[in-house]
Amino acid sequence: MTIDAVALAQDLIRCPSVTPRDDGALGVLEAALTPLGFVCHRLRFEQEGTAPVENLYARLGTEGPNFCFAGHTDVVPPGELKGWSIDPFAGTIHNDRLYGRGAVDMKGAIAAFVAAVSRRLAADGPPAGSISLLITGDEEGVAINGTKKVLDWLAARGETLDACVVGEPTNPKALGDMIKIGRRGSLTGHLTVFGAQGHTAYPHLADNPLPRLVRMLAAITEKPMDEGTAHFQPSTLALTTIDVGNPATNVIPAQGKATFNIRFNDAHTPASIESWLRGSFDAVGGAYELDIHCSGESFLTAPGPLTELVAEAVETATGRRPEYSTTGGTSDARFIKNFCPVVEFGLVGQTMHKLDEHTLVSDLTGLSAIYEVILQRVFARLPAPAIAGSNG
Ligand SMILES: [Zn+2]
Repeated sequence: MTIDAVALAQDLIRCPSVTPRDDGALGVLEAALTPLGFVCHRLRFEQEGTAPVENLYARLGTEGPNFCFAGHTDVVPPGELKGWSIDPFAGTIHNDRLYGRGAVDMKGAIAAFVAAVSRRLAADGPPAGSISLLITGDEEGVAINGTKKVLDWLAARGETLDACVVGEPTNPKALGDMIKIGRRGSLTGHLTVFGAQGHTAYPHLADNPLPRLVRMLAAITEKPMDEGTAHFQPSTLALTTIDVGNPATNVIPAQGKATFNIRFNDAHTPASIESWLRGSFDAVGGAYELDIHCSGESFLTAPGPLTELVAEAVETATGRRPEYSTTGGTSDARFIKNFCPVVEFGLVGQTMHKLDEHTLVSDLTGLSAIYEVILQRVFARLPAPAIAGSNG
């Protein structure tokens, strides 16, 4: 029995699983995987102050190597429903395109992978090793009750992953454009600069924090952080808000705040960025407070056996050699990279998170064909060390 990628993607889209809701999406997957021989574990995690989240770990086989496909069934909200020309949760095919929230990011890729597995099993029987799926319902949200906790659960059980493909949409324009072999890190800083409130006519009796705030922000934005590295674009720093909230025109405020987000490459660590920031602010002087939140460090799966295997599979199936890239936002690969080499390859990302999200039906079947070649090669290239690339 083989599974049709398009029909499964439609069934998944029909579950309106906007983070943190599951709405039956993981049940649809379980119903597809169990008859194929997968042992399914539903993992529900919650943490005080956050909504509980459903996750799924499914494994076929007990031996190594364990080749894992990772992804998420949760989707971002559809946004303005009036802006959609087709119901975002109907799974409608129109003009050879499958429409719906999650079609691209990334229910389509999950369906493509499951269909690929079903065809491999029908052709060759069980693999000499294991195939697993790590599917979370908490990727588009805060991501604390999802992949990270499933990985901890796996580690506690003594289960290991040997290589992983994440099915995020990676292709800018056409299937076969791009494989992601790493990601930049993301760090958000909240800066508060303190002074002393006073009358604008008597500034000598006050201490205006705003000129210092402006100089501090100038200090961190006037020069590029770096020129880029071998596999990464230059790091970027974007000011996202500057807040004083002072409605009075004759009062010097006591404090001013700013927030900025840094996307950093492998030339930096959160610690090196923090010391650069503090050094820049200390040089301006005065009292300030800096809160830093790092949601992911930069990482790179150095070009090697796994990246080559996936690139060759893409080339075999599409005739196009994909570019290795580390562009874009973060993904759950940032957690997986601590466990095994990980690369990302999925659909064309053009409509992700947008109104009228859709994928070409031919891209869905094309992606499924690529995943099938990947599976074929992973299990033809035993033993495990053959697919475990360096993970720098
Ligand atoms: Zn995604």
